[in-house]
Amino acid sequence: MAKHTIVLIPGDGIGPEVSSATRRVVEAAGLSVEWCELPAGQAALDQGHDNVLPQRTLAAIQAHKVALKGPVTTPVGKGFKSVNVQLRKSLNLYAAVRPVRSLEGVKTRFSNVNIVIIRENTEGLYSGIENEVVPGVVTSLKVATEVACTRIARFAFRYATRRHHKKITVFHKANIMKMTDGLFLNSARKIHEEEYPNIDYDEVIIDAGCMKIVQDPTRLDILLMENLYGDLVSDLCAGLVGGLGVVPGSNIGDDAAVFEAVHGSAPDIAGKNVANPLALIMSAVMMLEHLHEDAVAKKIQTAYDAVLAEGKTLTRDLGGSAGTNEFADAIIARMK
Ligand code: NAD
Repeated sequence: MAKHTIVLIPGDGIGPEVSSATRRVVEAAGLSVEWCELPAGQAALDQGHDNVLPQRTLAAIQAHKVALKGPVTTPVGKGFKSVNVQLRKSLNLYAAVRPVRSLEGVKTRFSNVNIVIIRENTEGLYSGIENEVVPGVVTSLKVATEVACTRIARFAFRYATRRHHKKITVFHKANIMKMTDGLFLNSARKIHEEEYPNIDYDEVIIDAGCMKIVQDPTRLDILLMENLYGDLVSDLCAGLVGGLGVVPGSNIGDDAAVFEAVHGSAPDIAGKNVANPLALIMSAVMMLEHLHEDAVAKKIQTAYDAVLAEGKTLTRDLGGSAGTNEFADAIIARMK
């Protein structure tokens, strides 16, 4: 097995706890790995860096091409640009992929959810272009480019084809934002018609789409949408399958990929050994698949599926009383 060098960003809040648990699980599964541990977020400022995303951290991801990242806190109102937005823009990580699936042993209203959210990661309202027109009047610019809309649409159809998904639904608000969401829709429609007519395709106005999600999410397959909608719908869908503790994610570009959970740094539970590390462990599984380490990925997935199904060692968010480390230990024990 080739040795992988992976950049590990522990992050802030619960980040160091869940990333250390994940690191132990990945190593116990037998991956030959050298971790290149570097800071971002509040941790970077605490270590004396003058930016929440130090140049060294960015350069390491550019060099090694793969990073596993814990959640970070962006200090509010201090003039720092969000680490996540900086990372996604500087590395051109244009596609966020967030699989949301029901897990045996995690009781929720619906039991057969298997949705993948594909979110455009680089523009929309997250372009951060805001202006004060006159005192008391501010604007935020929503950006859509044909290049980025076409790129994310092609990514989604290619993902659907490779992973044997049948249908892509675009969530939009083109009835109001006729130009920006209109361009997003037209680009997706064009890729469907010209390149992937074999994949079913549908367009739904996002407000009605959200109602559909909570009424019966089992009918949905891949959901494709622009940046802000994807952010919101990811958390909504997380709520369907057990919460933020069980939804992984990846940010993919042509030259690098950063794997991270959907959840944030959860300051309310940080340092208490109660955070669920599963979302980051699942993100690590996505990372292993990306590295073509399918056997190691499967080993970890089979182990956590078994721990969840058994239901004895669950973290607090899933109704149990196990700590972060205890849960990771249970997964490791299953792999032996
Ligand atoms: P959050 O996701 O951190 O927390 C929301 C709720 O979910 C909290 O009650 C928290 O305790 C719970 N939760 C989250 N992850 C959990 C886990 N693994 N196990 C158990 N419970 C969990 O969202 P927030 O409170 O809105 O944000 C806190 C900070 O995180 C903010 O500074 C925000 O900017 C940052 N954030 C970072 C990322 C990222 O780095 N990818 C993503 C979202 C938010």
